[in-house]
Amino acid sequence: MVKLTGEMLIGGRAIFGTAARLRAFDPVRGVDLEPVFGAADVGLVNRACTLAESAFDAYRIVPLEARAAFLEQIAENILALDDVLIERAHLESALPKARLEGERGRTVGQLRFFASLVREGRWLSATLDSAMPERTPLPRPDLRLQKVPLGPVAVFGASNFPLAFSVAGGDTASALAAGCPVVVKAHPAHLGTSELVARAIQHAVQACGLPEGVFSLLIGASNETGAALVSHPAIRAVGFTGSRSGGLALADMAAKRWEPIPVYAEMSSINPFFVLPGALEHRLNALASGLADSVTLGVGQFCTNPGLIVMIDSAKARQFIDIVGEAMARKGGQTMLTSGIAGAYDRSVDKRAGTEGVRLAAAGSGPDGQAGALPALFVTSASDFLTKNELGEEIFGPTSLVVLCTNEAQLVEVAHHVEGQLTCTLQMEPDDYALAGRLMPILERKAGRILANGFPTGVEVSHAMVHGGPYPATSDPRSTSVGASAMERFLRPVCYQDLPAELLPASVQDDNPLALWRVRNGQLMKN
Ligand code: NAP
Repeated sequence: MVKLTGEMLIGGRAIFGTAARLRAFDPVRGVDLEPVFGAADVGLVNRACTLAESAFDAYRIVPLEARAAFLEQIAENILALDDVLIERAHLESALPKARLEGERGRTVGQLRFFASLVREGRWLSATLDSAMPERTPLPRPDLRLQKVPLGPVAVFGASNFPLAFSVAGGDTASALAAGCPVVVKAHPAHLGTSELVARAIQHAVQACGLPEGVFSLLIGASNETGAALVSHPAIRAVGFTGSRSGGLALADMAAKRWEPIPVYAEMSSINPFFVLPGALEHRLNALASGLADSVTLGVGQFCTNPGLIVMIDSAKARQFIDIVGEAMARKGGQTMLTSGIAGAYDRSVDKRAGTEGVRLAAAGSGPDGQAGALPALFVTSASDFLTKNELGEEIFGPTSLVVLCTNEAQLVEVAHHVEGQLTCTLQMEPDDYALAGRLMPILERKAGRILANGFPTGVEVSHAMVHGGPYPATSDPRSTSVGASAMERFLRPVCYQDLPAELLPASVQDDNPLALWRVRNGQLMKN
């Protein structure tokens, strides 16, 4: 039986922090949970970062097979936690056990996916340009490129995915896959879950004979722990999922360091959902119930929650709003992740209900407990949406805002007006393709993922997935935090010019000892 101790894991050691004492919280029963956790002081942050730095050179050169086996061992160790992990995550987050089991499957699958990528080695981007000594007017040197890891990465787990976007989530898995040691700042909303998963990683480090500094878990009782971590000179990049204010604060700190570092923060998105006239005509009922499910899924605590529904005003559109509203109202109240998130939701919904030009079309009913959240559907006009910037802000929870446009031109204007997004969805039929074609170039500039006739909640971990987008969806529109390309965030290219064969890394040696697909004089080949 695994017993929580409230300790941090600093390299191979478990240490009870003395800077402050804190507890996890059960948002359903409204009670503190055992055990007490000890928070890190600056000395422990320094120790974790220094260990990570000293592990870096040894870790980045372990054979790819050993690195892949390490990721798979973490997956095995997480699975071995069995119900203990699910029970604890359920207690701390109020998320249903079935959802958490699915999330565990995704977390483990993601680790195995990155293991397969590490073995295959395409991420190294091995590229060789042969020397051209006879070229005139100037000879070309021998040039070879490979990607190398950036160095130790700080990871901030997200509250809404205590497994898949937390201690062993996508940021950690992709950073470890890239060859970077990781120091995680545990999310205060799921401290016990964090300790369990961190121990699974620590055991994998030991079992695989890796340097202890490859992984550490820090606990903090205030912003100071995260600030000290991001400011530490050993840290070379940051992965974050959470609020816009948190992400911006960390990006600001990282930019002000003596040596600025990249921050990959996934922050805020309202995921515009365009219902075009043909879709409304042909699929009104199915679309309405699918949308109500998507808005309220997981109490709306998804970064891909459809928080903005854009349509051309019509009798059908009004009917659609009624059906979506009725379906949302039937969902009742549900407990949110934390009382802080629930409080912010209630305040934001009240503010929106009081905004001139906004109508509350439907609201859930039921006991409005301390951490409960009732669904709410709002309606406004495009002219109000275009002039009131606060209507474009994310409300984290089971709510959405319908924007009714007078015509196609106004719908296009709304598309132009929205901020950067993780996703944009087009609900359409073939007779809508002309309008959709006008929207496409706009949506490409706005979002990391464009969906046709689907719902944005649900993010596949695969080669082609993009979970990113222009600000404020993320702090860096060139990146994704989910999918194979997530590794790119923690790599940089190095070019080797005229190096003797003895000093070349294996990935770019003449005889291709790693059997990689490589670009050789502009041609992709396996030799
Ligand atoms: P958060 O407040 O941004 O916290 C996320 C992590 O960052 C925590 O570990 C927090 O730890 C740390 N942090 C936040 N601000 C910091 C600062 N100024 N300096 C250093 N560290 C900082 O996010 P949350 O608690 O998960 O949720 C709050 C809100 O975030 C939600 O209401 C929602 O709007 C949004 N959210 C968005 C997403 C998304 O997917 N985009 C996901 C979850 C939440 P400390 O508090 O201990 O410093």
